[in-house]
Order: sequence, then structure tokens, then C-alpha cells
Amino acid sequence: MEKVRTRFAPSPTGYLHIGGLRTALYGFLYSKMKGGDFILRIEDTDTARYVDGSVQIIYDTMRDSGIMYDEGPDVGGNYGPYVQSERKEIYTEYAKKLVELGGAYYCFCKPERIETLKDDSGNMRYDKHYLNLSKEEIQAKIDAGEPYVIRQNVPTEGVGRYTDLVYGEINVDYKDIEDGILIKSDGMPTYNFANVIDDHLMGITHVIRGIEYLSSTPKYNLMYDAYGWERPTYIHLPPIMKDAQHKLSKRNGDASYEDFVKKGYVKEAIVNYIALLGWSPKGNVEKMSLNELIENFSLDGIGKSPAIFDETKMKWLSGEYIKEMTAEEFKEKAYSFLKESKAFGKYDEDKLLAISKGRVQIYSEIPEKINFLEEFGKYDLNLFENQKQKASKELAIKILPQIKEVLSQVCEWNNSALFTALVELSAKLEIKKQALLWITRIAITGFESTAGGATEIADILGKEETLRRIDCSIEFLK
Ligand code: GLU
Repeated sequence: MEKVRTRFAPSPTGYLHIGGLRTALYGFLYSKMKGGDFILRIEDTDTARYVDGSVQIIYDTMRDSGIMYDEGPDVGGNYGPYVQSERKEIYTEYAKKLVELGGAYYCFCKPERIETLKDDSGNMRYDKHYLNLSKEEIQAKIDAGEPYVIRQNVPTEGVGRYTDLVYGEINVDYKDIEDGILIKSDGMPTYNFANVIDDHLMGITHVIRGIEYLSSTPKYNLMYDAYGWERPTYIHLPPIMKDAQHKLSKRNGDASYEDFVKKGYVKEAIVNYIALLGWSPKGNVEKMSLNELIENFSLDGIGKSPAIFDETKMKWLSGEYIKEMTAEEFKEKAYSFLKESKAFGKYDEDKLLAISKGRVQIYSEIPEKINFLEEFGKYDLNLFENQKQKASKELAIKILPQIKEVLSQVCEWNNSALFTALVELSAKLEIKKQALLWITRIAITGFESTAGGATEIADILGKEETLRRIDCSIEFLK
């Protein structure tokens, strides 16, 4: 069997957005599950849309997300160059060949004439005006320095048919396809030409790309057929929507991989979530590492209907990844976010991370979960009133001095010793344990809900600060 070769062919027009990364991921997963090669090709022939620095963003994002290619501009390979702007001569050579084969022709039309071909809504169907020039006439015009483009010679009748692995049988009437430009007047190819030449020369067996190319594919097939090349297998992917009406798109400034990393999403969760945008795994397991995705991926799990991007679900998945991390791993990944907290630098960082882990879904939620440690001040004393916990203001007034007394006598200031001391006190006073812990936590934080229980927080605050806060609360209650 022929070795599977897939490619990701982004245009360097800015950040790598979610749709682009999904295309890359599916190409990667399919080639890896088949023991094949995954190729990165930079499609930079549209100089007007080129954004400086975006090639580097593509390299960095793919490495960072683990969607790594076997061949590409910065890693090499036997089918290079992998940047289209470096392949100009190749396209020229193949365009000439296609002209000889009758699949394309030189067009010397002036812009003024093109204007006259447009209909009221600005649509233009080129009329093959220069289709039948002789070789000599063409050469004379070129020698005279007349600007030209090379256009595809699309049949005026007949139907282009192919089978897409996701969308099934596709039929497009040739009369609906125009003689599009293959080589522009500056000698650069258009996407419509370059993708065919490159996919063939790079030995691509499976073309995996967005649905926007589904109906242009028959015109690419005309070229494969004209050259006598085998057509690749096509897999067009469903669109990704922001909601029922709007597509998620880079042009609308919708979030990129990098934005989500900056927002504090676990990287593996982003990749995992993206895999589910259009593909349904067999069974109910949704949380999958990259290796598990490779094992489970299958083309027949790709659906036709648009996938809705649900950030809440991606956040949930991110939280699941955090729960499973070791404390060390969480520290390494979350540290830069911890630094944003007011509590950073004031308390033991491992303890701050311990009360955050399990309570955050994305790292950037850490500061808001622990800032309360630095926000102690006059608070609403009604917080002591809590029927469920059997706590009240009166009870607080009564027992806070005893809580302080017991805590001040704990020899080793740590969570478990503090907890034992308070549990013993509750038994001695015949008060429910939860009531006593509730009152302690309100007294030392002033917040109804906090990350961490009373004794975890007391442990973090340290003896002196805990006792000081209890004194403050006793004063507030007077
Ligand atoms: N450069 C094209 C794009 O970014 C690639 C399409 C393809 O994969 O063939 O949309």
C-alpha cells in the first residue's frame, strides 16, 4: 500500500486560528494513525494578505500544540522547497506544460476589456477571447512585453464529478466554473494552480481541508486529469460556527490557539477539544491525549454538519486536565498566572497552588480564587448567619475567643494539626464541627465562599496573621 501523506497548507495571514489548527490536527492524526507523513507547506503567493511574522507563528503553534510535521520549511524533507514563493519556476514550467496540453491558455486581455465582460452585479465570466492564438502570436506578444496571465481552459459543458469522503458524490457543471487565473501577471501562481502542482509533486495522497474548497475541487481535478496524474483522495471538513448563524473566523478576529493559551487554557485540552469539532469518537470518551486521538481517529467519524465552538465545554475539558495533573506539573504550568495574584509573594506558593488546583478550569482563574487572602477588612457580619451550617452571629461572639485560645496553643502550625485542634474544640463545646469551621473561616477571611477550608487558609496565613484576624473579627462583632 502506498504510504499516506497528508499536508497542512496555511497561508501566513496572521494568527493560527481554531479552524486552521483543526485542519492541521486532522491531517496529522490521519497520517499518524496510518504510519504516514505529515507535511507543512506555506502558501504565501497572495502577497496582499501576507502578514509579517505569521510564518513563525505557524511554526511555533504547531510545535507548541504537539501537531508536529515530518517535512516542512524549517525541518526540510525530500520534496522541498515547502514555501510556495520559492517554487515560482516550478509553477511556470508546469503552467507552460498545461498550455501545451490544452488545459490552459495565455490571456492578454486588458483590464478595460475585462470590465466590459462584467454583469450588473460585477460577476465576470471570461469569454476565452485569447484561447485560439497561435504559438507565434503568443510569442510575439510576450516579446513585445505585453502583460499576460495564464487562465485555465474549463470545458463549456459536462460535469465534474468526484467523491469526497465526508460529503459524498460531488457534481459541478463545468458551465458554472470560470476560466480562472492560474498564473498572475507578476508570474506568481494563484492558490487554484499551486495547490494542484504541489499536492502532486509532494506526493500528497489525502487532501484534508476546509469545506470552502469542496466545489472548486472539480477544476483542480481537470488539471490532474490533463497532466495524467492520479487525483488525491479528498476530505473536506465541516465549518466551525460561533453560533447557529456565524462562522468562526480569523477575519472576524475570533480567538486563535495563542489567545486561548494566553487565557490560561491547558494546551492539551485545546487540542483535545479541537479534535471534537467535527469528529465524533466511537464510545463516550471525550478526554483524549494526542496519542489516544491518533489511536482512535477515523475519517468516518467526521460529520457533515457544522460544528459549534463551545468555549464552556473547552473550559470544562481544561479543568479535567488540571484535576489530573500532579502538584509539580500544575506549578510549572500555572506559575506565571499565580504571579498575577495579589497573594503572590506573601504566602507559601505551593499552598496557594494547592487550594487553587481543583477549583479552576483555566490557569487565569487562579488570581481571582486566591486574591481574597489579601482582601481582609470590614465585612458583612451577617455572613456568620448560616442555618445550614448551624452557625450564627451569637455563636460567633461566644466561641471566637475560645477558637483563638485553642489555635494559639497549637504547636505545629499546619493544616492537619489545626484541623484536629478545632475538631476537638467542637466536641468539647458540643457544637457541630461545620459550625465551628464556618465561623473560623468567615472570621479570618470575611468572605462567604473561598478556595480552601478554614484550616487550610489559617495554615497559609500563618499563626500571627490568623490570630490578628480573629481579634479583628471579635472587635467587629462588639
Ligand atoms: N492555503 C489554503 C488556506 O489557507 C489551503 C487550502 C488547502 O488546504 O488546500 O485556506
